Amino acid sequence: MTNYLQCGTHGKQPETAVCKHIAKAMKTGKEVGFYWSVENQEYDAVCGKCNKLSDEQWVSQQNDLIRLLCLGCFKVAASHHGIEIEEVA
Ligand SMILES: [Zn+2]
Ligand SMILES: [Zn+2]
Repeated sequence: MTNYLQCGTHGKQPETAVCKHIAKAMKTGKEVGFYWSVENQEYDAVCGKCNKLSDEQWVSQQNDLIRLLCLGCFKVAASHHGIEIEEVA
């Protein structure tokens, strides 16, 4: 089940999860890496640093690390890192 959220810029959009470093990079304009995946139409992405965490480290820190973005913002963040998101139907 896809959750939706209301974005001030993009309107009603599917919810995606990114790490807080990517969320912050959108404001600072820094490039931090963008490693994304999609499963059951749920998009998520982490920066280069978080991508190197072990599963255990990730699980123990994920409540602190995860930020929710609308899919529109997710794509903006991706293109900021030179990545194009393919939509899966
Ligand atoms: Zn990160
Ligand atoms: Zn948005």
